[in-house]
Amino acid sequence: MSLLPILRFPDPRLKKIAAPVRNVDESIIRLARDMAETMYQAPGIGLAATQVDVHKQVIVIDTSETRDNLLTLINPEIVESEGRQECEEGCLSVPGIYDKVERAERVVVRYLDLEGREKTIEADELLAVCLQHEIEHLSGKVFVEHLSRLKQLRIKAKLAKQAKITAARD
Ligand SMILES: [Zn+2]
Repeated sequence: MSLLPILRFPDPRLKKIAAPVRNVDESIIRLARDMAETMYQAPGIGLAATQVDVHKQVIVIDTSETRDNLLTLINPEIVESEGRQECEEGCLSVPGIYDKVERAERVVVRYLDLEGREKTIEADELLAVCLQHEIEHLSGKVFVEHLSRLKQLRIKAKLAKQAKITAARD
């Protein structure tokens, strides 16, 4: 297993659209494992393949407090959604930034598991938010794009400053 480097907003590669996985083969299983390790180490509660510069429809999520309930979703698709909720979100590609985003309250997601079997998951609260956030990454969208233009400019400036400090330290 290995840790994968995470792309930082506004890296243009975060805008790439992920392709569906045709075959859940050894390479996909390895990718999902590396993504899970990267997510746990970060630490984060979700990671999309887009964020590690692999443009395939794979996401990993673990919203449990005990960090032992890993969900791997291949080709995830929201098939039902209802209600509204507003939740403060963060993202491993936008470090240190948290803001409120409005999303569906409850979603049903269809996906393939690591054995290539079709499954569905019904979720609300944090898991529903996380599923919507990660699935959005696969279509090239980062959560801050829900915020106002002014906020996005501020976030870009802040991240550019952070990157400079990090570069000076290295
Ligand atoms: Zn994210």
